Amino acid sequence: MAGHDQTIGSFLWRAERLYPDTEIVARTHDGIERYDYATYADRTRQLANALEASGIEAGDRVATVSWNHHRHFETYFGVPNTGAQLHTINPLLPDEHVQYIVENAGDRLVFVDPSLVEKLESAYDADAFASVEQFVVMGEAVPETSLDPVTDYESFVGEQEPSYEWPELDEDQRAGMCYTSGTTGRPKGVEYTQQMLWSHTMATLTPQGLDIDDGDVVMPVVPMFHVNAWGMPFSLTAAGAKHVYPGPSPDPEDLARLIEDEGVTFTAGVPTVWMGVLEYARENDLDFDSLERVMVGGAAAPKSLIRAFDEEFDVTMLQGWGMTELSPVGTLSHLKDGMEDWDAERKYEKRQKQGLVLPGLEFRVVDDDGEEVPWNGEDFGELYIRGPWVTDSYFERPEADETDFEGSWLKTGDVVSVDEDGYVKIVDRAKDVIKSGGEWISSVELENALMAHDAVSEAAVVGVPHERWQERPAAFVVLADEVGVDRDEVKAELVNLIREDYPKWWVPDATLFIDEVPKTATGKFDKKRLRDEYGDESLVADEAPDER
Ligand code: AMP
Repeated sequence: MAGHDQTIGSFLWRAERLYPDTEIVARTHDGIERYDYATYADRTRQLANALEASGIEAGDRVATVSWNHHRHFETYFGVPNTGAQLHTINPLLPDEHVQYIVENAGDRLVFVDPSLVEKLESAYDADAFASVEQFVVMGEAVPETSLDPVTDYESFVGEQEPSYEWPELDEDQRAGMCYTSGTTGRPKGVEYTQQMLWSHTMATLTPQGLDIDDGDVVMPVVPMFHVNAWGMPFSLTAAGAKHVYPGPSPDPEDLARLIEDEGVTFTAGVPTVWMGVLEYARENDLDFDSLERVMVGGAAAPKSLIRAFDEEFDVTMLQGWGMTELSPVGTLSHLKDGMEDWDAERKYEKRQKQGLVLPGLEFRVVDDDGEEVPWNGEDFGELYIRGPWVTDSYFERPEADETDFEGSWLKTGDVVSVDEDGYVKIVDRAKDVIKSGGEWISSVELENALMAHDAVSEAAVVGVPHERWQERPAAFVVLADEVGVDRDEVKAELVNLIREDYPKWWVPDATLFIDEVPKTATGKFDKKRLRDEYGDESLVADEAPDER
């Protein structure tokens, strides 16, 4: 038996002692902020005292609605190290989802970024937010707001002592929580125990993982509200690396400047981000001297992107696949020993795949008959996965537990093939959702919204490939009655219907009228046929909104 549990507090304990002077840098609304691990550790203890003074106890949920910066990072250890649970909320979700999530989780305190106060006000609903006792704006002052009671972060933590005795925690203690947009209906909560975060961190530190060490300067661009920024804040601390946080809505110029000014060696984000940075770097003749590696994931990375970073900047783009349910990293597309000598094209073929499973995980690929498919690079089936950092259930969603798990296996909803070398390749998605720029759009919700229009009898929404956003929604609408109907008028009304209730980036890029939605043998919309028949890239113009 181990004498001590697997808890993430050990990572901070070590970083404070071994790397007190290593920097944590953040781009904020007020410019660049910079301090070291020694100060960071003090501030997490001040935060713990502040939480205690507010009556937060072990087991309570504390939410954040925020971009990537040092204050958000302080909650990453400051909250779970006390035994409370850090619940990161995605501010890009529709208001209704935010309401559901806060109510379902029963958050007691909400930290909110100054630039997201308005968003939270818009989502605020007295009943849904009944459990929330306090809001803390993550800055030095409180803007004009209806959120109440509210205080600013620096007053909240600043008055507290930097000494605090962290409690001994059990590794099964809930440490984190993140909701994933469900295939149908409401988002599903995934809880992370101390042990899940600990084991995920250890796997990411291996050479077959992200291979981060104390010489690295790492910039997580992937949002801290999206599965703990792929676990990076924990991994970087465990390794004693320098952190660089890009702050609110960074554009390619902000990212490029941070890479150059801070000497970033490693960064991570979705493909859309890197396409923007690539374009900017080309236009401005940048060479990214310090940069060695870029992790790309959340959506499939095009080969052209991997090649461009390789050939133009001598930067290795490492594709990763993961899920909220996996804390989140599952596979990484490293080349195996010996493959470095292959010709360039063959190597890109491999690296374009989602890659090799991390040590510690096991998977199988199951076809429609429940049989495991051979690893021949051709046969495909649904990916099932299990391991110490894979959840075995959702928060209070027994009906989803029934469909999404089989024993210890998580049924991922991703359809994959595996080649003879063990490289996993995603070939399709069995779950009915659209992922645009790394964030989910619920096709089912859009369909329901469209079908609420009197003139519409059926509506199906599918994801169509898109160069910049990977996927964009396209709507296929069947009219109840063609006679006397002005299609352009109906189309405009449908767009307005969606705009009223959903973020701008959920509005389908194309709305097409068809005679009938093709159906499967069981009478469900056959989206595969729709995609095959209509879903080429020309359908969606490059007019998706820029802001996320
Ligand atoms: P999330 O839970 O929001 O992180 O989304 C997880 C889902 O994103 C996976 O089940 C895949 O469908 C998709 N995904 C993640 N990484 C990749 C990747 N590298 N390539 C293709 N799809 C991906």
